[in-house]
Amino acid sequence: MNRASIDPERRHTQRMTCSALSGADFEPIAVRGHHLLCAVCVAGGCETPPCGIEEVQGLLAALWEYAYVPIRVSADIEVNRAHYLDAYEDRGERELPDDYEDRAADYAGRRKDLEVCRLLGIAPGSVLPAWALYMTLFERLAGVRSVCATGDAQSDVWPRCPHAEAGYYERIRDAAPTSLEDQTEQGEALDGHGRWAMFRMRTREDMLTAKDQSAGFIEEDADHLYIRPQHLLCMLCTMEAQDPLIQDNLVELRKRMEEDPDIPVTLVEGCCMVCDPCNVYHPGEHVCYTTHIKNQLRDLNILEKLDLEPGATLPAGELYARIYERIGSLMEVCGWGDGLKTVHFWAPCGGAKGDALERARDRGLISDGVE
Ligand code: SF4
Ligand code: SF4
Ligand code: SF4
Repeated sequence: MNRASIDPERRHTQRMTCSALSGADFEPIAVRGHHLLCAVCVAGGCETPPCGIEEVQGLLAALWEYAYVPIRVSADIEVNRAHYLDAYEDRGERELPDDYEDRAADYAGRRKDLEVCRLLGIAPGSVLPAWALYMTLFERLAGVRSVCATGDAQSDVWPRCPHAEAGYYERIRDAAPTSLEDQTEQGEALDGHGRWAMFRMRTREDMLTAKDQSAGFIEEDADHLYIRPQHLLCMLCTMEAQDPLIQDNLVELRKRMEEDPDIPVTLVEGCCMVCDPCNVYHPGEHVCYTTHIKNQLRDLNILEKLDLEPGATLPAGELYARIYERIGSLMEVCGWGDGLKTVHFWAPCGGAKGDALERARDRGLISDGVE
């Protein structure tokens, strides 16, 4: 494929296909809280989860197709109101729900569903993108024993799951995490490794091709850049790098602006020219699995600080002069100002306490000579 294929009119031809599971009108997949865990056990090798393997195969197929598929986490918190009416002999004439007995008898499953909701910090019925949901679960639940093997080992009333000590969940959760650079470097060689047994890697060829085309276009052909506000700051954190990074185009874009501070830059929300080669970038959906939520707020926070609208276009030098003038530190944006981590997908960046912005300001990086 030659460089001409970067033409926006033809861009879709080089993309992964879009999934029917995405889109604003897609109805979230409803999954019981503890079945989310059973899906991990199955991915880790369990063939006989108590819920039946068919119960989680559809979920695993959806995760594989689209890592950001919306999931509605269910837990039955309404049956307890009917239980009171059932147990209390003088309840009067009020009817019990038709499916009351099955729901009431499933108290052990209902407890596990609520444990998962508690770990996620959500009310039953909440919807989360699958990637954000599982990364939060993996961060907060080291092993399924504390959910699935808590009762008396001999109890018939609160039976333990026979797989709780088998290590299936832990095999997926504890596989050595790999950096974004490692993921992009290795591609499909990581298939089946930890979380990549549940979520599909981009292929190495796909990412290499994207890197070659997008970096070449930036270096040789682009006379107008399209960059999300957050990445204007990330370029400062990587300003000492001289060689291109395998996982993104931060270095190429910074150098292009250093060479030509008059080049127009349009501030776009969401993924941008930086993202094409990245493993957690889904080209068909134009979404970043790891930052899709938090970087939207950061983009808008930066635009507010710069007093610019999404889609505003400025010469690169003027843009950076404005950044140096109006943003005091990375902590203001990348650490939310208060450093608070409420949940995995709102985490401050590890580099937020760094001084890259101050050093770039002192150097006049890209903005040199701009009044
Ligand atoms: S240990 Fe828990 S999560 Fe795993 S299969 Fe059994 S019930 Fe499901
Ligand atoms: S602190 Fe993190 S998010 Fe912020 S600019 Fe640096 S690399 Fe980007
Ligand atoms: S925003 Fe996401 S997709 Fe883009 S380079 Fe960063 S991690 Fe990769």
